[in-house]
Amino acid sequence: MDLKKIRLFLFDMDGTLYLGDRLFSFTRPLLDAIRQAGKTYLFMTNNSSKSVGDYVKKLERLGIPAAYDDFITSSQATADYLTANHPKVKFYVCGTRSFKEELSGAGVLVCDAYAEDIGGVVMGYDTELTYQKLDDVSRLLTLRDIPYIAANPDLVCPTEYGYVPDCGSVCGMIYNATGKRPHYIGKPRPEMPLAAVARIAKRDAGVCPDTTLVVGDRLYTDIACAVAAGIHSLLVLSGESTLSDVEKSEVKPELILRDCAELLEKIQ
Ligand SMILES: [Mg+2]
Repeated sequence: MDLKKIRLFLFDMDGTLYLGDRLFSFTRPLLDAIRQAGKTYLFMTNNSSKSVGDYVKKLERLGIPAAYDDFITSSQATADYLTANHPKVKFYVCGTRSFKEELSGAGVLVCDAYAEDIGGVVMGYDTELTYQKLDDVSRLLTLRDIPYIAANPDLVCPTEYGYVPDCGSVCGMIYNATGKRPHYIGKPRPEMPLAAVARIAKRDAGVCPDTTLVVGDRLYTDIACAVAAGIHSLLVLSGESTLSDVEKSEVKPELILRDCAELLEKIQ
């Protein structure tokens, strides 16, 4: 892979551009250098509990100016998938208020109470989960054979004290009750990076899978989604993964660097 030929950079955020609430010193110079070269970067996240607006605020707080169009999220990719594959279907959505707004804003028919005309179920990372929602989803999936989609497969989400259950864990509860498993959208599935390539290729004809690079710190999500999408991959060791994880992993990145400071050196 020739890094100088890359025109679209898809960045994982935590562990790649910052750690928790600490921005890495090289992040701003790297993002500026990509823009100055006339190239594009997007922030790519599996977290379907926050809206893009929430992420814009978080990045601005850390000192990175960001706009709505700078993101590709599992919520957006889920909306794309639903409108392309199940148009005009009314979906029961088990997710946060932000998630439901994002889907309905993209044209998905969203419903959050049990009704006879519901034609599918969507799960997000629901930090506003109630037992009523679990009951509604179980009822729908038990009584009907309908499309069942989940925004992201993560079992847990990191917090300042450890972890909390994420979308994949709640889908595990639903599986125990109904025997049904969802079609997942977020990393490690290829939908998000491919949606990003399709979106940016509309304004930069030079963007295709071969000129796109996924940069992240997790092998089983970031690197796996790049491999599944046929897109170049770069693992940085500034977050979760170590070199011994790479040796043990079946998923191998094309390139490994200490952090994005090294990426900045190589693209200049
Ligand atoms: Mg990460």
